[in-house]
Amino acid sequence: MTAFDSTALHPDTLAVRQAVPRSQFGEHSEALYLSSSFVQPDAATAARRFAGEEEGYTYTRTANPTVTSFEQRLAAMEGTQAAVATASGMSAILLVCLALLKAGDHVVCSQSMFGSTMKLIGGELARFGVQSTFVPQTDVAAWRAAVRPETRLLFAETPTNPLTELCDIRALADIAHEAGVLLAVDNCFASPALQRPAEMGADLVIHSGTKFLDGQGRVMAGAVCGPHALIEEKLAPLIRSAGMNLSPFNAWVVLKGLETLSIRMQAQSAHALAIASWLESHPAVRRTFYPGLASHPQHELAMRQQSGVGGAVVSFVVGGAEAAAARASAFHVIDSTRICSITANLGDTKTTITHPASTSHGRLTDAQRSAAGIGQGLIRLAVGLEHIDDLKADLARGLDSLK
Ligand SMILES: *Cc1c(COP(=O)(O)O)cnc(C)c1O
Repeated sequence: MTAFDSTALHPDTLAVRQAVPRSQFGEHSEALYLSSSFVQPDAATAARRFAGEEEGYTYTRTANPTVTSFEQRLAAMEGTQAAVATASGMSAILLVCLALLKAGDHVVCSQSMFGSTMKLIGGELARFGVQSTFVPQTDVAAWRAAVRPETRLLFAETPTNPLTELCDIRALADIAHEAGVLLAVDNCFASPALQRPAEMGADLVIHSGTKFLDGQGRVMAGAVCGPHALIEEKLAPLIRSAGMNLSPFNAWVVLKGLETLSIRMQAQSAHALAIASWLESHPAVRRTFYPGLASHPQHELAMRQQSGVGGAVVSFVVGGAEAAAARASAFHVIDSTRICSITANLGDTKTTITHPASTSHGRLTDAQRSAAGIGQGLIRLAVGLEHIDDLKADLARGLDSLK
């Protein structure tokens, strides 16, 4: 229902243009429909719309025009037929699991996934009889070996938080499809500006809109993108019953964020590459993790899979052989910054700095943390748009004074 043929346009154009049609007022910026229900012209029309026989908005838990604009725009950018928006990234993951899995089913995931994802799939869903196997992120053979007759879903996240390890999306799609199961990819870190998993065979693409899609650290949001048959027939109906909707206000904020996603990702990734190269040569830094560096073990795959760009997240390790000493060094670097924000969010125009072992990955067991390679000396930097020289000086203050 757009005035143009969206199939003929590039993602950059759709990122600013794709939306539901303008209202009778001709607003240029997309309208914010902050309304929980929609007035019906007559009882018979209401009956047809509630029965799903006729298009038309009824109640915002079912659908809302501002939310539809966000869904259409994100689907266009990911190159999928459809998308469904959710209240947060975690509710998008919950939605996929609730819609596609039942007791006795099995999921294969990476052992380096986002901490809450591991808690949800390995912990909460286990209470409902869903089994899971967590395999090393980069080991394609381990993914293949973990598939069982009860497997229904392979779930990957690439690159990962915080170590920026990659999955080969095409290779995992082949494994999934040979076994007749689905591949879901959490595309939060690269975003469709750099990586379009559906083009590489992923069946579902999952987003935390809270990160780069909003891009300015304002609202929580999530989404799942995929084919009509999965999104409209399996996922969206479950939202109507379960209510993990995205609010229209948050949808509007993220919708506007999508307009600048591509230029933000390019600029923030360029800053991240400059910082990563500088960190790599700093004597106090033991190791730097960034897919855009030639030293990254999967640099070539990253360049192929992520449009030749490394992304905006850099992690690095500071010294101390003992865990306590490494932690003290990391805390010293973090506490010496004056510009970087000590906050767990990422994907913001403001650079954020965190100590994963005690924050985002603090709820994991020691065994899970060491399997994920997250030590006490590790620092994660989600690079924003501040001037590069100011960011370097901010980090140098702590690094140069490490003993
Ligand atoms: C933040 C994040 C999520 C969860 O998203 P929320 O919007 O915080 O619920 C999921 N996956 C990844 C990779 C994330 O970084």
